Amino acid sequence: MKRTLLAALAGLSLGLLAACANSDGETAATEGKPITGEINIYSSRHYDTDLALYEDFTRATGIKVNRIEAEADALIERIQAEGEFSPADLLITTDAGRLWRAEEAGILAPVDSKVLEERIPANLRDPQKRWFALTTRARIIIYNKAKGAPQGLATYEDLASPAFKGRICMRSSSSVYNIALLASMIAHDGPEKAGAWAKGVVANFQRPPQGNDVSNIEAVAAGECDISLVNTYYLARFATPEKRKVLDALGIIFPNQATTGTHVNMSGAGLVKTAPNRENAIKFLEYLSSESAQKYLANGNNEYPAAKGVAPTSAVEALGTFKADPLSASEIGRNEARAAQLYNAARWN
Ligand code: FE
Repeated sequence: MKRTLLAALAGLSLGLLAACANSDGETAATEGKPITGEINIYSSRHYDTDLALYEDFTRATGIKVNRIEAEADALIERIQAEGEFSPADLLITTDAGRLWRAEEAGILAPVDSKVLEERIPANLRDPQKRWFALTTRARIIIYNKAKGAPQGLATYEDLASPAFKGRICMRSSSSVYNIALLASMIAHDGPEKAGAWAKGVVANFQRPPQGNDVSNIEAVAAGECDISLVNTYYLARFATPEKRKVLDALGIIFPNQATTGTHVNMSGAGLVKTAPNRENAIKFLEYLSSESAQKYLANGNNEYPAAKGVAPTSAVEALGTFKADPLSASEIGRNEARAAQLYNAARWN
């Protein structure tokens, strides 16, 4: 009974979203194929360029895209609560750990697709075929160029060296970006070393953790502190004529090039086990791996396309090429709870 009600409510809110999107959707449909079907997407991505992509898909296929946007954990819980009556066809998230949680929650179904297997590299898809990466982003070191390149700083591990005492500023450890990074270090170095690392970095803080990636980029550029860790797409956002000055004040280090590779996180999509529009959803997944869709997905947020042979924006390319850590999403996901504990123990707020 409760489930039926929930499903009805979910259907209602999807209907409402579809209605909101319709003024554009109708035009799209009249220009392209007539609407012959639909898919329901639960997504934690919220970029305008993604909307253009959905419309392109509708024009090409006649399949209407309805969407619900919320934080990934809320979407996973919602799909679980809706149970077999869930209208959700696809789950889209922006974090490897959340893809793993969706796996663990048992809400995803495997997709057998030659297209996806050819286009998405093996380390960017679930070995059991329950999800496929759409884009990736790297977490890299930035430093204030005017103060000189920090000597002996080439890895994440080096950030804990006493040589950098009083020079590092970071955002809170509650950020999923920092949690995923420490989870990857637990996988590589073991929990003891990872915990000692968190303590070492805290001992090097110039100020207590604050702000987000953007404010820490600005703080390093302004010389308020010397060193920070940020995602590549936030840096690329500063490659505009108005913001260029900030980017020009920064040096960039892709960490761990001689060791494990730079930590990358990913956004990805998986077919929901109870998907009412299964065939359409698989068609959409395959479309997401196409060159044009990959460009929409990656370029709109300055990310790296997950599909082979698709180039990122020039602003992203200008940051440099690097060796990425091929660690699997499940390795990251299963260590995230431990990572949060280690950050707490280190008093990295
Ligand atoms: Fe972000």
